Amino acid sequence: MTPTFSNSAVKLPHRRQTLALEYSQVAGELLSLSQALQEHLDVDKVLETFSHWIDDDVPHYGLRFVPAGQGAQSVVGEGRGERREFELAIHGECLGKLVIGLRRPVEACQLAKLEHFLAQLTLPLRNALRYREAITQATRDSLTGVFNRSTLESSVQRELSLSERQSVPLSLLVLDVDRFKGINDDFGHHIGDEVIRAVADNVSQALRETDLVFRFGGDEFVVVMPGSDGEGAVRVADRVRRRVAERPLVMGNTRILISLSLGVTESRPGDCVDTLFQRADRALLDAKRGGRNRVELAR
Ligand code: GH3
Ligand code: MG
Repeated sequence: MTPTFSNSAVKLPHRRQTLALEYSQVAGELLSLSQALQEHLDVDKVLETFSHWIDDDVPHYGLRFVPAGQGAQSVVGEGRGERREFELAIHGECLGKLVIGLRRPVEACQLAKLEHFLAQLTLPLRNALRYREAITQATRDSLTGVFNRSTLESSVQRELSLSERQSVPLSLLVLDVDRFKGINDDFGHHIGDEVIRAVADNVSQALRETDLVFRFGGDEFVVVMPGSDGEGAVRVADRVRRRVAERPLVMGNTRILISLSLGVTESRPGDCVDTLFQRADRALLDAKRGGRNRVELAR
């Protein structure tokens, strides 16, 4: 009969008893680690928990995870110390690379323990990566990476309610590429896509971190600016306009000039998502009628 660790009636030789105790302690630790990791679906939280958990056995300054697929790197703690790299994989699927910055060199037994810890990390990390991927696909536009239209209404509604509650202004900007059909016709749909991507990048780079960028569809984007009044939003809109106009898309010998028309409005008491949009849209139309490559503030 095979003795089990929980069966106190079984008399094990002394060394084996000690080993059994050590194994059951380690197994208990690994189970607790696994449970702690499985409580999180956020990649950063999983890694923070892992880092915190292993620190007694494997003292380290911090760790960095570089995913194999798309998605941002995660950094926990400080990026110094003696670097150890581990490829993380589960059932043949490569998850990415984990770099640990050790406080001091580790011994073979610590390394062996770390490998057990890493084995507990892979499943919760894969789940968190998949969850992040699903959220990204549901909320982000696949061509540009900015938020997609499906999240727009609820985001604007949320920001509108917040701005009312906190009595701070909120501005909405709608922008559209000028004569975009011509770019598609002259250079092809593929280059048209590059133009849309370049516009999204330039718009994002011209804004504050708290501003939200959405692709509304085709060549049209919406920017929500919490905390900006109309005047401030017009200044930002003009910065966006200039940035795009000053950066033609260069494809080999071809330079494609891009310009935008932009309509801006500040929220008013009693506004709902629709009224805010209608005003910004009318301002955009004014900008188009006024000659394009310009910003209009809603009257
Ligand atoms: P205007 O200055 O009045 O805005 O003129 P425009 O030619 O830009 O007109 P409009 O904004 O109506 O044109 C949008 C075009 O964008 C129509 C459609 O063929 C094209 N389009 C929509 N989605 C995509 C896309 O994902 N990729 C590309 N390349 N083109 C798209
Ligand atoms: Mg257009």
